Amino acid sequence: MAGREDEPLTGYDPLDCFHEECGVFGVFGSDEACVLTALGLHALQHRGQEAAGIVSYDGDAFHAHRALGHVGDNFGADSPQMARLRGHAAIGHNRYSTSGNINPLMEIQPFSSELAFGGFALAHNGNLTNASRLRASLIETGSLFQSSSDTEVIVHLVARSHQADVTGRLVDALKQIDGAYSLVCVADDMLIGVRDPHGVRPLILGKRDDTWLLASESCALDIVGATVVRDLEPGEMLIIDKNGVRSEMPFQQVAPRFCVFEYVYFSRPDSIVEGRGVYHARKAIGGELASESHIDADLIIPVPDSGVPAALGYAEKSGVPFDLGIIRNHYVGRTFIQPTQKGRTDSVKLKHNANPAAVKGKRIVLVDDSIVRGTTSRKIVTMMRNAGAAEVHMRIASPPTTHPCFYGVDTPSQDQLIAARMTVDEIAAEIGVDSLAFITVDGMYKAIGDMARNEDQPQFCDACFTGDYPIRLASGLSAKRVSHGGSQ
Ligand code: AMP
Repeated sequence: MAGREDEPLTGYDPLDCFHEECGVFGVFGSDEACVLTALGLHALQHRGQEAAGIVSYDGDAFHAHRALGHVGDNFGADSPQMARLRGHAAIGHNRYSTSGNINPLMEIQPFSSELAFGGFALAHNGNLTNASRLRASLIETGSLFQSSSDTEVIVHLVARSHQADVTGRLVDALKQIDGAYSLVCVADDMLIGVRDPHGVRPLILGKRDDTWLLASESCALDIVGATVVRDLEPGEMLIIDKNGVRSEMPFQQVAPRFCVFEYVYFSRPDSIVEGRGVYHARKAIGGELASESHIDADLIIPVPDSGVPAALGYAEKSGVPFDLGIIRNHYVGRTFIQPTQKGRTDSVKLKHNANPAAVKGKRIVLVDDSIVRGTTSRKIVTMMRNAGAAEVHMRIASPPTTHPCFYGVDTPSQDQLIAARMTVDEIAAEIGVDSLAFITVDGMYKAIGDMARNEDQPQFCDACFTGDYPIRLASGLSAKRVSHGGSQ
């Protein structure tokens, strides 16, 4: 685990544990900057569904619109707000979650402020692990915070920096920050993109004619007809202005630790993140899972949509036919992303239906990407039994989720993670399956990167599966080590 001598890894501070899942997008050099941003955010909707915002810059002034709800509901092509969002530069943000805050509208990014050097707008994907301490000391010395977001800390640090220009101020601010961040900013007629030194969250550069774009995932570049130029390097700052793109590496170099969960679940399957296709990674995990934990069965059934590529890979490898035994209602969003357990349980009920024609009398293997609390699996296994399945086995395309993420993926606290409390056998009994197996950590590495996990210097951030947190956690953020039993 990473850590700093002056900051013990103990205790728990909820302010440092915002549950954020976000997508960011940025444009420079197009009269349609806000339209491109709205389209990009639409493609990134899976990264956050509770709120969206766009800030544009027209060379003179900043214009902003932020709203609760989906991108499509708030940034329609003919809406008055789109007419107001003038300019050749824009950034946008999708966010989960604004619930529980006194004024949810104040939490919606991008944040924009008038600072001593001019306007500054910022959108952030990730989570800052020492925000709480920084925030307390900023407040003590006179800062007035408008939101409870960790991201606002960056704005205050930029405002207070004594560096001469905005990029220097931003670097100055980020050098005080621990955590995971992929940022897009507009200031001083520039679009700036930055990734944290470990490169935990993705950020990719694209181009369409003379327009430069930054996006969390390549699927957002595809939707606007842009080509992928390259991923930003971990720790890289890209400065885009009318003269083109300039790269700086302002931070001390550390080993990259890209989030493995982006491949397992979070990114869209049609995206290429960190140079690897997500769809192929998921199929390969399914294939590896089939090799690790084969069971005689009649059908492989994906839990839609997240389990589909892994189930295809599993079916291909095992030679067992693939079929649709669960039908998904697409008018229900990501269930997990509902902020309350009641909302989650209700949504799971609304979201999936059994297809008895496929499963009746069959020995089935259900394939899903992950089990977190167990809400989805419990429900689906019952559904399959009620539909007449003869045997219900479950295979999970990730190792047991034993630790919360503090770097920007929404996970419940450790006591709510079923694999942190129970062995695999106990989980199998709890969700009511005839057998259960998760892919091993080694199998996951092999499938995604054709590599063995380097135990001294793991190639990915896999903290949710191993408890090996690469970025120091501020006093407060901690999780207990968990060991779980084998499969079945
Ligand atoms: P649960 O029902 O709590 O066990 O959650 C597992 C389901 O939620 C799986 O079907 C996953 O596809 C999905 N899931 C897992 N992790 C996340 C996450 N961080 N954000 C949103 N959905 C997730």
